[in-house]
Amino acid sequence: MTAQDSPDHRAELHAETMIVHAGRDPASHRGTVNMPVYRASTICFPTLAALEHARANPLTEISYGIHGTPTVKALEEAVAAIEGGYRAIAVSSGLAAVSGAIFAFVKPGDHILMVDSVYGPTRRLCDILLKRNGVETTYYDAMVGAGIAALLRDNTRLIYAESPGSHTFEVQDIPAIAAVARRAGIPLLMDNSWGTPYHFASFQHGVEVSIHAATKYIVGHSDALLGLIVTNEARFQAVRDYVSLMGFNASPDDCYLGLRGLRTIAPRLRRQAEGSLKVAAWLRAQPEVEEVLHPALPGAPGHELWKRDFTGSASLFSIVLKSRAKAAVEALVDHRRLFTIGASWGGFESLLMPTTPGPLRTARPWTRGQIVRLHIGLEDPDDLIADLAEGFAALRRLPG
Ligand SMILES: *Cc1c(COP(=O)(O)O)cnc(C)c1O
Repeated sequence: MTAQDSPDHRAELHAETMIVHAGRDPASHRGTVNMPVYRASTICFPTLAALEHARANPLTEISYGIHGTPTVKALEEAVAAIEGGYRAIAVSSGLAAVSGAIFAFVKPGDHILMVDSVYGPTRRLCDILLKRNGVETTYYDAMVGAGIAALLRDNTRLIYAESPGSHTFEVQDIPAIAAVARRAGIPLLMDNSWGTPYHFASFQHGVEVSIHAATKYIVGHSDALLGLIVTNEARFQAVRDYVSLMGFNASPDDCYLGLRGLRTIAPRLRRQAEGSLKVAAWLRAQPEVEEVLHPALPGAPGHELWKRDFTGSASLFSIVLKSRAKAAVEALVDHRRLFTIGASWGGFESLLMPTTPGPLRTARPWTRGQIVRLHIGLEDPDDLIADLAEGFAALRRLPG
């Protein structure tokens, strides 16, 4: 399937078929199933006219490594097609995708609306770098919905969403927020790393710029950092220009790993989500657990909105412990063999990460107990439950 295929033909295909075929054209590289890794800085041109042609057609031609080699463009094409966007831009990390997307739309004197439950480093970007550049950030409650209209100012240049929220998994009413952004003529940006291009159709829900930490489920094997910004047609040029000016390019090797991971994202996510629901249900039955924050778990916060808007689930969720003692978290996360304590997520292996969202919330203060975030990998969920049971046994042995 190549860029020349008609959109009508693509629309007939199911998402899982797109995931296998989008961005692949074996005939253009000697029949190999996968797009090879094209590493390049210099591109050689036979004539001045050829150089000028390449520069005039940056979306289809290759002119210099920083603007993307065929490997980079194949990943961009595949992800844009799967998510239903106009085009995608690959960058060096998820955080580069976040900063590239935001900075493309702001200048000194501007104001942005940022969700309170956003990924921590995105919050730091606002509090440090946007502030230093004269851009003011207002954090809004993830549950605000259409009420976000009341927070708009004359100089508000974008609304930024992340759903579900980092660590606390609030599901936002994206269509309601998108309607407000559309009326105001400003873009809605969304960090869709949890939803992935497969499970949340950003553009059908009114998002104009979708941001992915492809490091997570797209790469899927915990071995590369990669970001993607997918846009609609109206917002593409602003982001493309900013990313090119800044030199935020992705490495062709990492794009190859992104493409390789992408081809199996559907069965990985299905299996991991299934495992995560089994583990989540078991956790909910433990008396030391106050609440399980997993949008795909019936009865959990945000479940109804998740069911309305998402076509599937990721395997990342949190539990809130009744105890506020650090010793409780320590007992839980230090007594295990299969889970690893570690940042990031989206790989084939299970992870645990204790967090305290308190210092990272201002619109709606976090006043509840300790949180442990779990990422469920491809292990048998019964073994994972047995592993967690050891932690709970240690927790129960604590004095008091
Ligand atoms: C990890 C993460 C990022 C950043 O991705 P990196 O590739 O690690 O820079 C951005 N957003 C969310 C929601 C994340 O979890």
